[in-house]
Amino acid sequence: MDKKKREIIKRIEKLVDPYRVTKGKGFRLKDIDPGDTGGLGSDQKPRAKELLAQGVQRMAEEQDKFYADDRHSMLLVFQAMDAAGKDGTISHVMSGVNPQGCQVYSFKQPSAEELDHDFMWRYQRCLPERGRIGIYNRSYYEEVLVVRVHKELLERQKMPRNLVTRNIWGERLEDIAGFERYLARQGTVVLKFFLHVSRKEQKRRFLERLEMPEKNWKFSSADVTERGYWRDYMAAYEDAIRATASREAPWYVIPADNKWFTRLVVAAVIVEAFWKLELAYPRVDDAKKKELAAVRKALMGEKK
Ligand code: ATP
Ligand code: MG
Repeated sequence: MDKKKREIIKRIEKLVDPYRVTKGKGFRLKDIDPGDTGGLGSDQKPRAKELLAQGVQRMAEEQDKFYADDRHSMLLVFQAMDAAGKDGTISHVMSGVNPQGCQVYSFKQPSAEELDHDFMWRYQRCLPERGRIGIYNRSYYEEVLVVRVHKELLERQKMPRNLVTRNIWGERLEDIAGFERYLARQGTVVLKFFLHVSRKEQKRRFLERLEMPEKNWKFSSADVTERGYWRDYMAAYEDAIRATASREAPWYVIPADNKWFTRLVVAAVIVEAFWKLELAYPRVDDAKKKELAAVRKALMGEKK
């Protein structure tokens, strides 16, 4: 890696490290302030936007090599409470990447067919191929979040009764951690983002959705009902992060009260992950070089 890149990586690490969780033990959600902007004042917002644009550009370059290399896959998991900015973050951060190498899946309430399978089934079917980025807008983590907060959802999953014990959430988390370890061992880079918005900022954004006609469509009364379960959700998130944070599948708990900061950190995490792979375009061997030279000569020799 060249010197300039190493310097940028150092700066990226400084920005990202406070939010990276690779070891669950001792992690507490309340140690991360949703309003944190990493020491950047709101006067630095334009600078942050510039840096984001640079990040998006770098991501595009790396994705091209990633696709050509065709060995790793990248799975980006986005989890958050409503109005934390998942959709906007995904569209801003991924704005520069080639759509051919990237797929976004949004997971909603499961269908009857999906409920007829084990919980991982529907998520497993959408995993990214080698050389591609897969984005999960909500994910298998809902199985230990919304399903845990609303236990009646578990009833609908048609599990054999003797398997539904008090340990079920611990067991699911263990299976998720095992699944992610498996993916990592297969060459999938697994990055998990929890966009950590405060209850107060969520209220402000809901009110905005109610007040601004062009945002009305985003408003759902169900979201306000879910807000009533805030503490249960936070407990479920904390437990999930503790049980599944690892070096091979880290969590990034990103302050989400300021969208410009959220987007900058997410982009930085992805660029860092790409750079650590030290990607290069596949080398062309001598036989292939000869072939290319011959084709070139033939093309040049054509009359028209
Ligand atoms: P947005 O509101 O920004 O469009 P969203 O991800 O909130 O995006 P919605 O259609 O509003 O999308 O909601 C999807 C709902 O599906 C969420 O409330 C989520 O908790 C729920 N959901 C996701 N996975 C599951 C699951 N496995 N079991 C039950 N509910 C689920
Ligand atoms: Mg919603």
